[in-house]
Amino acid sequence: MKAVVYPAANSYQVTEVKEPVAGPGQVVVKVISTTICATDMKIFTGNFPGVKFPHIPGHEWAGQIVEVGPGVTGLAVGDRVGVEVHVGCGQCRPCIEGMYNLCENYGRIEAGHAHIGFTVPGGMAEYCAVAAKAAHRLPDGLSYDEGAFTDNIGIALHAVERTGLRPGETMAVVGPGAFGLLAVQIARAMGAARVVLVGTRPERLRLGLELGADAVVDISDAIDPAVAVKDAFGGRGADTVVEFAGTESGGALALLVARRGGRVCLAGATGPGRMLKVDLSVIVRGHLDVHGSVANPCWVSKRGLELIERGSVNVKPLITHHLPLGEFPQAWEMTHKRLDGAIRVMLHP
Ligand SMILES: [Zn+2]
Ligand SMILES: [Zn+2]
Repeated sequence: MKAVVYPAANSYQVTEVKEPVAGPGQVVVKVISTTICATDMKIFTGNFPGVKFPHIPGHEWAGQIVEVGPGVTGLAVGDRVGVEVHVGCGQCRPCIEGMYNLCENYGRIEAGHAHIGFTVPGGMAEYCAVAAKAAHRLPDGLSYDEGAFTDNIGIALHAVERTGLRPGETMAVVGPGAFGLLAVQIARAMGAARVVLVGTRPERLRLGLELGADAVVDISDAIDPAVAVKDAFGGRGADTVVEFAGTESGGALALLVARRGGRVCLAGATGPGRMLKVDLSVIVRGHLDVHGSVANPCWVSKRGLELIERGSVNVKPLITHHLPLGEFPQAWEMTHKRLDGAIRVMLHP
């Protein structure tokens, strides 16, 4: 089958590899829609712990089941599925609590753990074998393109929920990338009274307004970004803040724009090397609840898919281009250089 392979760090090729077969508890999925994100660049450069080369990437994808392995119940050949990429070992304490994203056996395939597209082959290929528990049957109304957001919607939903957002409260979303644009819509769906999207890219901020943000703040225009954001909340700051910028300045800004007693979730910097520089009194005297959030516990994605099906979250504007899988090099270039307004370039094997 055709697949994208990273033979070693900092190189890729589109090549022929052996088709996977379904092991016990697995299904083989014919990949129909698959896409790339910034995390793929961390994997590519060898900066994601646990990834070994050669590697088949792909962790944002959906397709149709073509083979069901021994012991799988509840899924059948022909089912349309989206994939949640953290497969916990199921045995350690976090896994028993459903926190697959915190599995203590991370990277240990022999213990039953898999991180699809990270520690095991992913969906940037014609076929991919995954644990049945990673496959979410897509609601009837959802396309495969929308289903490719299965993992992303779970990540965004979990981060918003980490803030404890209640109906009638306000939220600032820092970072207008795909995750920030999902978070804006989720906050609206959860009954936020006011959602303000913060960033530096005017075209993304405009899209945020179209997707339901009540206001946007372009901090590249601001003398003091924190003051500008607080002003968007009547000078008081936001009850809750979600950060998906993944930068040092974005992390600091998220803390600075919360109201006293507010709740902040930092979710953007999923790789090492970003240092938070902020006066501790911002947190202490600000009486802030500060959370980190990485990925998503099991089945949060399932609830996220329901939000897409219901129309509360619209992922279609985030899909800016379509290409065949063989055009991976072009998709890679477009995504990482943000050419032609690319947010997600959907590849079709
Ligand atoms: Zn991703
Ligand atoms: Zn575990």
